[in-house]
Amino acid sequence: MNICVVGTGYVGLVTGAVFADLGNDVTCVDRDKAKIDSLKRGIMPIYEPGLEEMVKRNVDDGRLSFSTKLEEAVRRSEIIFIAVGTPPKANGETDLSAVEEVALGIARALDRYKVIVNKSTVPVGTGDLVREIIDRNKRRQIDFDVVSNPEFLREGSAIEDTLRPDRIVIGAPTQHVAMTLLELYAPLERPMIITDVHSAEMIKYASNAFLATKISFINAVANLCEQAGADVTHVIKGMGMDARIGPSFLQAGLGYGGSCFPKDTDSLIHTAAKLDYDFKLLRAVVTINRERSQRFVQIIQNALSPLSDKVIAVLGLAFKPNTDDMRDAKSLEVISDLVKAGATVRAYDPVAVANAKPLLPPGIVYTHSAYEAAEGADGLAIVTEWNEFRFLNMERVKQAMRRPIIFDGRNIYEPERIRRLGFAYHSIGRRPVVPS
Ligand code: NAD
Repeated sequence: MNICVVGTGYVGLVTGAVFADLGNDVTCVDRDKAKIDSLKRGIMPIYEPGLEEMVKRNVDDGRLSFSTKLEEAVRRSEIIFIAVGTPPKANGETDLSAVEEVALGIARALDRYKVIVNKSTVPVGTGDLVREIIDRNKRRQIDFDVVSNPEFLREGSAIEDTLRPDRIVIGAPTQHVAMTLLELYAPLERPMIITDVHSAEMIKYASNAFLATKISFINAVANLCEQAGADVTHVIKGMGMDARIGPSFLQAGLGYGGSCFPKDTDSLIHTAAKLDYDFKLLRAVVTINRERSQRFVQIIQNALSPLSDKVIAVLGLAFKPNTDDMRDAKSLEVISDLVKAGATVRAYDPVAVANAKPLLPPGIVYTHSAYEAAEGADGLAIVTEWNEFRFLNMERVKQAMRRPIIFDGRNIYEPERIRRLGFAYHSIGRRPVVPS
């Protein structure tokens, strides 16, 4: 099939590469000329395991190309995926201007029947909006259909998630249109759910809001554990073994960040308000999440106050491991609070430093390794749980530090082991431990 994917970010580029790998002819379009020029030279705009190889293979085989010319690419294609950004406005509402702009471009290029598929995360009713824009602006009386096909990939495992999703949701106006998408996805041999457009749009938000709720719930329990002298990691084990609950997304820590959960929870609250429903539960989820980083910095302050003459090594800047994405990363909140309190910050991340620098306050020392970050530090704060931090030579870390204190915002270490290595150790939802 000839496919056009508009937006070459995490979702669009991965989707385009995977569809090409399945044997389709794919044009990936973006309005960002620099991005398209880099992609044409084989340089990936994002870090995503396996992506570069997959893109190269398909470009070499002539199935994948890149362009800034939306209308040309639309004319060549039978199916057009919209995968542009849908950032939040200041009031939490979703900014749909990029989606609207693409819909307008599609309308202008419409020269025969096409299926327009919305992969961007958009509030319920956006499919209708896209249909209206195309209808109003198309130049000839040509039929088309609008489908909702929300994306569930996770950054850091985006290729794997796109090749093996838990489910593929297809919200289509008719069974016949749904079949087009069914056929496209058939080679993946994954479960597919066919529904109407509104329900598909809602499935995406309800899923993300539910996962965010799980995270905030366990973080609230972690707060209780700290007061009650219980260990949240044991509580999680005991809860997660209940098949009705399950262990995933039950990790106490600094809370959720990234380009999806914060904006999608805010957006659903906003949609609910527009529909005259006060989504109190979700508002509480957001509030609990906002308090996480302040609480963490407070733990650091309680242990090291005043911070004005202290050096804090921060390990991990990306919003989660295996990505260089800094959108709504907890490191931004933690570091700016530390800097506000007067601390000197030495920061390390395996891949996100370049993206982090413009977003963080001046004066931060960026290092090339965790050991270098630890040099002369009064405290080591784990903010993102990159795997390499689990396997550090802790003896070397201790020798580098001025004072051996670890603040683990992601509970990556076992307290007793760290205590035996001679560190004071503060983590989430567990008693602090000090060396004997
Ligand atoms: P992104 O910011 O990484 O990429 C969006 C791309 O769209 C950018 O390259 C931008 O230049 C391009 N773009 C914007 N307006 C355009 C226009 N008018 N014409 C052509 N290109 C345009 O975004 P992303 O992370 O890939 O997310 C895309 C959508 O998918 C969002 O709605 C997001 O909520 C959703 N989503 C993201 C993820 C994720 O993990 N990143 C997961 C699931 C769903």
